[in-house]
Amino acid sequence: MIQFKQLSFWEKVTLLEDIDFLIVGSGIVGSACALELRRQNPDAKIVILERSYLPLGASTKNAGFTCFGSVTELLDDLKNTSEERVWNTVKLRYEGLERLLQRFSPSDLNYENCGSYDLITDETDLAIYHPKLEVLNQQIESITGKKECYSFEKNVQGKFGFSCFEGGYFNRLEGAIDTGKLLLATQRDLAKNQIIVLNGIEVINFHSDQNQVIIETNYGEIKSKKLGITINGFAKKLLPELRVDPARAQVLVTSEINGLKAKGTFHLDKGYYYFRNIGNRILFGGGRNLDFKAENTFELDQTELIQNALEELLKEKIIPNTNFSIDYRWSGTMGVGTEKGPIIEKINSNTAVGVRLGGMGVAIGSLVGERLACLLND
Ligand SMILES: Cc1cc2nc3c(=O)[nH]c(=O)nc-3n(C[C@H](O)[C@H](O)[C@H](O)COP(=O)(O)OP(=O)(O)OC[C@H]3O[C@@H](n4cnc5c(N)ncnc54)[C@H](O)[C@@H]3O)c2cc1C
Repeated sequence: MIQFKQLSFWEKVTLLEDIDFLIVGSGIVGSACALELRRQNPDAKIVILERSYLPLGASTKNAGFTCFGSVTELLDDLKNTSEERVWNTVKLRYEGLERLLQRFSPSDLNYENCGSYDLITDETDLAIYHPKLEVLNQQIESITGKKECYSFEKNVQGKFGFSCFEGGYFNRLEGAIDTGKLLLATQRDLAKNQIIVLNGIEVINFHSDQNQVIIETNYGEIKSKKLGITINGFAKKLLPELRVDPARAQVLVTSEINGLKAKGTFHLDKGYYYFRNIGNRILFGGGRNLDFKAENTFELDQTELIQNALEELLKEKIIPNTNFSIDYRWSGTMGVGTEKGPIIEKINSNTAVGVRLGGMGVAIGSLVGERLACLLND
């Protein structure tokens, strides 16, 4: 193992000694946690360790939906989880989005309050979903204070140029951000708040005594008074007992399409598929449900099965009779579990984690980071 031995006095003293708070992972949660720690501790030395030259998980790979629940996703959650947990998660997502939009101005994030559509393929499903709209709207109103969040729109084919969809449930409170802009705005705030971000350092292990945590990395040991772990889908690598599994999410972006009508944010099939426009391109992701087992991986490549399924859906339903090619493809790693919802807890008196954000981290990441900071400050 290379030790931190080629470092100068200045580098060692300024960056690596007498650390008050060390955060592992520079995604949305790690960054929000560090910024909240700074707010509460103006003079503390706060360091983030990130294993890669850029964050290498989900925060800079995501689709940028500011979403808290589509009709089919919520009804599916209500089938599989207690009502209390479902509405608590929606509340966390809604409050998290409010927090995100307090932290940054709309122009920082290219935020668009465009609403979203949950598209329905099978007409017979409408008879199941329609009668439940009123109750969903009442629940959302009790959380957000806003009436009539969901409404049904029949003519999505004419409006957006789709084929095969029997209508869509519009959620007027959702929207989208530019994920790249969130990265830039976060980096600006970290620098402004004198938070030290060290890229290319991977934490391999850690152990605590009463006064400090000793963190083993690929370059040697670092000591800190407190340790915050925000490595989401990779949590099991440091804390095997945590119920967090990696879940790969694959995405593609089309070439520019002249006269693109499909503008806005859209979900399909209980949220397993999602697409939006980026200018005249379409970003399309999802399909993990086609092979959950294969997608339970740390690997970041793409599979033919899912990429072909995404392309087929584009050609047949979303932009039919349109010439396009695929300009970008990538994957990210989410952290999921059998239960939907984050784990924010203390491991011992000087270590805490904030992980398992599922496909909700744009929404809940700021709040999870802030709550983790409060645990570390205890
Ligand atoms: C393709 C895709 C689309 C998505 N779309 C949306 C969306 O539209 N809306 C939404 O709300 N959410 C979406 N999500 C989910 C959202 O992006 C995540 O929930 C969120 O980014 C999680 O943030 P995080 O900070 O917890 O984790 P991450 O962003 O994964 O950050 C963890 C960081 O820890 C680093 N790390 C890991 N192990 C170590 C180690 N041992 N030492 C040092 N560093 C380490 C990683 O490199 C990574 O940078 C999507 C996710 C993906 C992948």
